[in-house]
Amino acid sequence: MSLIVQKYGGTSVGNIERIRNVARRVARTANEGHEVVVVLSAMSGETNRLVALTLEANEFPIGREYDLVISTGEQVTIGLMALCLQEMGMKAKGFLGHQVAIITDSQFGSARIESIETERLVAELKSGVIAVVAGFQGVDAGGDITTLGRGGSDTTAVALAAALKADLCEIYTDVEGIYTTDPNICADARKLKKVSYDEMLEMASLGAKVLQTRSVEFAKKYEVPVLVRSSFSDAGGTLVCKEDKDMEKVVVSGITYNKDEAKISIIRVPDRPGIAVKVFRPLSEAAINVDMIVQNISHDAHTDLTFTVSKSDYKKAMKIIKEVAAVIEAKDVIGDTSIAKVSIVGAGMRSHAGIASKTFDVLAKEGINIQMISTSEIKISVVVDVKYTELAVRVLHEAFGLGKDEVVEEKG
Ligand code: ASP
Ligand code: MG
Repeated sequence: MSLIVQKYGGTSVGNIERIRNVARRVARTANEGHEVVVVLSAMSGETNRLVALTLEANEFPIGREYDLVISTGEQVTIGLMALCLQEMGMKAKGFLGHQVAIITDSQFGSARIESIETERLVAELKSGVIAVVAGFQGVDAGGDITTLGRGGSDTTAVALAAALKADLCEIYTDVEGIYTTDPNICADARKLKKVSYDEMLEMASLGAKVLQTRSVEFAKKYEVPVLVRSSFSDAGGTLVCKEDKDMEKVVVSGITYNKDEAKISIIRVPDRPGIAVKVFRPLSEAAINVDMIVQNISHDAHTDLTFTVSKSDYKKAMKIIKEVAAVIEAKDVIGDTSIAKVSIVGAGMRSHAGIASKTFDVLAKEGINIQMISTSEIKISVVVDVKYTELAVRVLHEAFGLGKDEVVEEKG
């Protein structure tokens, strides 16, 4: 007998029929003799609807009451799921974050899980109860309800799996796993059997939207095996797990893209010590995350400084940087929201050379100008004009032999 955590996303619980369908799968798992913890999202679209309501009530809906409202979607789905399971003759109980309890810090809207009390859940599981837990929410030390950031029920599931030392954490979604790239762009995108935590971390933060990045950090830290699969089929899914020898043989595992960033350039910045901190400290003080940074070669003691921020922070960042530019006597500030970041990810890059030059070569042949570059051990990202996103993804996918028709060894 093993302990399995199953998380179902919004589309999988989008209406009663689907909830009942999921309940059947849960019941089947329990009837096979496993202890089952179910983590649910709100019905698809529900959290967006709740967020919109808070915006109607208040121009800047943040803090305690915002979380109070947007956490309610999950209360509905766990209740309905437990009711469906009960109707099938199963023992099931729904639990909100504070009833577990999932303890977080007090960063409303993007709280981090600090600890999970497992006693109550363990006792319920031992007595044969299927525990249905609300994703996305927790409770802080003061007893207030918090939420974990959009997509946070993935993190609830993986954190629960870690705390309960579960044998497996299954993430059920509306796609059959992690693909070599977005199948909407490349019809021949291939489902991966396995990816390493590090690859998945890069892919999640670079734009693959299947898992919340934070959940992968948890999975890596506690070595929770995570199986991403579809609730609409019995297909095998993708296992996110520790890197093994086979994985390094495959140089490139996937191509991701992200259209949610914007680029800001400060022109003719005086080139002297202390300037970078003058530019970037006000941004960090405003809680704006800077992603890529490029500073070009200095001519006559001046340099151009370019960086990217998330589109949602773009306006705020431009305002701050225009003020900074005036103070440091830079010539100009230029913003550009029509960019995309295209990234190539693969554990095998650690041990294979030439991936960067091949990437640049492939893009050059298509006449795609590279505006910025950044790399890590296992990824290369380039910023290009947004209109080239799909083309860049397609040609790279093909150049690195990721398509279905290619004769490459499948991972795993
Ligand atoms: N319902 C929340 C959201 O839409 C959490 C989740 O789905 O993971 O962001
Ligand atoms: Mg999700």
